[in-house]
Amino acid sequence: MGGYNFDKDLFRKRVRELVKLDSKVSIEDANPVQIYKAVGFAIKEQIIDPWIDTRKKAKEQDVKMVYYLSMEFLMGRALGNNILNIQAQNDIREVLEEFGVDLNLIEDQERDWALGNGGLGRLAACFLDSLATLGYHAYGCGIRYKYGMFKQKIEDGYQKEVPDNWLKIANPFEIRRDSQRQEVRFGGYTRCETDEHGNPRYIQEGYQAVVAVPYDLPVIGYGNGVVNTLRIWSAEPVEELDLESFDQGEYEKANEQNNLAETICKVLYPNDNKYSGKELRLKQQYFFVSATIQRAVERYMEEHDDIHGLHEKVCFQMNDTHPTVAVAELMRILLDEYGLGWDEAWAITTKTCAYTNHTIMAEALEKWPIDLFQRLLPRVYQIVDEINRRFVNEIRSRYPGQPEKVQKMAVLYEGQVRMANMAIVGGFSVNGVAKLHTEILEKQELRDFYEMMPEKFNNKTNGITQRRFLLHGNPLLAQWVTDHIGDGWITNLPEIKKIEPLADDPECRRQFREIKYQNKLRLAEYIREYNHIEVNPESIFDVQVKRLHEYKRQLLNILHVMYLYNQLKDHPEWDMVPRTFIFGAKAAAGYRIAKLTIKLINSVAEVINHDPSINGKIKVVFIEDYRVSNAELIFSASDVSEQISTASKEASGTGNMKFMLNGALTLGTMDGANVEIVEEAGAENAFIFGMSAEEVIRYEHDGTYDPMTIFNSDEGIRRVLMQLINGFYSPEDPELFRPLYNSLLNTKDTSRADTYFILKDFRSYAEAQQRVEAAYRDQEWWSRAAMINVANAGKFSSDRTIQEYVDDIWHLDKLK
Ligand SMILES: *Cc1c(COP(=O)(O)O)cnc(C)c1O
Repeated sequence: MGGYNFDKDLFRKRVRELVKLDSKVSIEDANPVQIYKAVGFAIKEQIIDPWIDTRKKAKEQDVKMVYYLSMEFLMGRALGNNILNIQAQNDIREVLEEFGVDLNLIEDQERDWALGNGGLGRLAACFLDSLATLGYHAYGCGIRYKYGMFKQKIEDGYQKEVPDNWLKIANPFEIRRDSQRQEVRFGGYTRCETDEHGNPRYIQEGYQAVVAVPYDLPVIGYGNGVVNTLRIWSAEPVEELDLESFDQGEYEKANEQNNLAETICKVLYPNDNKYSGKELRLKQQYFFVSATIQRAVERYMEEHDDIHGLHEKVCFQMNDTHPTVAVAELMRILLDEYGLGWDEAWAITTKTCAYTNHTIMAEALEKWPIDLFQRLLPRVYQIVDEINRRFVNEIRSRYPGQPEKVQKMAVLYEGQVRMANMAIVGGFSVNGVAKLHTEILEKQELRDFYEMMPEKFNNKTNGITQRRFLLHGNPLLAQWVTDHIGDGWITNLPEIKKIEPLADDPECRRQFREIKYQNKLRLAEYIREYNHIEVNPESIFDVQVKRLHEYKRQLLNILHVMYLYNQLKDHPEWDMVPRTFIFGAKAAAGYRIAKLTIKLINSVAEVINHDPSINGKIKVVFIEDYRVSNAELIFSASDVSEQISTASKEASGTGNMKFMLNGALTLGTMDGANVEIVEEAGAENAFIFGMSAEEVIRYEHDGTYDPMTIFNSDEGIRRVLMQLINGFYSPEDPELFRPLYNSLLNTKDTSRADTYFILKDFRSYAEAQQRVEAAYRDQEWWSRAAMINVANAGKFSSDRTIQEYVDDIWHLDKLK
């Protein structure tokens, strides 16, 4: 397909007109928000024909398409990337300059589209960018939460959650599609009828219904004229309340339906990697899955006449277990609405659904209580029950006399619906998200499934889009790369390997250092504005930004900062390389230990940043409200990328890849995609420490780890831990950090002490940090290593990941 043929004169004219139409002001009097909306709308006008054409071509060419089902899409801001992807940056910058406004200021008016928690939602966003850029027709399907991820405020060092009313400023890109609405039904009971052929037909009655209304957002391919769709569904009452015409019973029912519609899409659950078991969450899941699948089947039948070919034109990719009710919902539609027999319906379903696993952590596994599931989705539950009955029979005949096989693999077990098991049984593909993660799935967590159906298992190492995280987020480095090797890397990241020889050129290294320095100044400016802290741009920017979770071990990082500070106080003459420790993380609102860790980081910052005796050698900064838009600033300014999860716990990580692409060196464990990052960059260009995944898993099995022996034998560690309970960082409340201390040294229950092996890995981490310090003193070595990291980041483009999904799972054709 072609490009976008941006029309600069039309754009100029339309921005003038649109500020008037939308805000009743002339361009000269418009404020930045008003201009932002007009600019967004004027851009939408220029991509609307390609958007319509993409759909039209997909229909003409009858291409297979993927529906990427995800509870989360962490898109960040759209304007800047849309401008880059239609390759109109210079034109738009110039027009805005004529109006006397700066494009960056206009971009800053946009709120993040924060319809996600962290890595899982951001992955979905990167995948959409890559799908469009590679020219594949795809829909991202999710929920239009009224309130996305909360905004984080830090007050007195504590996290405070503020609702994210992101729709307050109308989104100029979205289009409401009333013509595509679907009805979704909850509750009631099922009645069985016999049809004219004597076959049973099941009918759901006495249910409550909501209308799902889709809102479409354009996903613009880079320079290729392909515009895909992110479709987010919003719930509305089936009929508006009419007080007059109802008797009391009907009124109450209508009122309940109204409330249901209002609550379903109200808010995103702020848990990352954690199952919470809330009824409303299951309603959200079924709501968007049912709407998506109904519409997908309806559309397929508009263009084809035989439902049996569905899998040849449609694939539902389930992003984690959250949308796996898709398996049963598709069965329901095929059985009840198309009248297929079970075997026919099952054959289609198991060729149409595919599942991506994102975690092995027990607390993240979705297991819905059967009574809740059955009450909410009575017909869908009957189908789940039948899926389970048949599968259990299959297990029994395959493994006679091995009841443990049923115990491990059944979909229904001990009163629960196990969503991962349903996804594996009901789909044709199960993929992990990094080599190590997939290996652990096959050998440990899903071993029985792997033995029974090895052909389903495959790995798809995650990736990130270089269009956002280098081209947009780091314009100085992007321009430098383009100046030296051309711009092919923008759509073919492995080409960035061509800068590797430049790492041996002292002048190139100097330029590279200068760019990093400029980016550090940009971040220092941001920190000055938002944190009122002065940081030294010559210091090492040592950064850990990601969701706050015990397994990610922000606690290890801050304990080490406390340890370094003790050393510095003991040896004021030590000429350590100045260090700025930068943190950014949201904690789930109900996650006590995580929130207390945020308070600890801020308390440590308070003490250290205000101690004149250490001459500013250590600074600690907690960046409020970590999100995609400020992430772009942070990655580009980082020297050290902290990827320090307990080995085996981080399925992949994608933050690690964004840092690498921006020339930060990885300080990390052999976990998730860190393994592959080190493989690509060379172990000599990273700082690796800590236990291996195998060691961790062994300790977890044999239960012999006792952190108390480390506490007793290691003076440095003991001193730091005592500072958690002697008021060193909380003189007003010495007991404040006791829960953190207890999480490490639970004396009542040693099996629950330091479950993430923080003390076990502490010395290894401290020693790796010394290597960082020594290495940074040699600026020529450091710049070279950083450049080699960038040069070898090619593998980690989500373009590569998506091409692998296409080749091995989806089998899509490109749009012509
Ligand atoms: C990339 C990204 C993440 C994921 O980071 P990890 O380090 O892989 O956990 C989370 N949040 C935002 C805003 C991101 O951009």
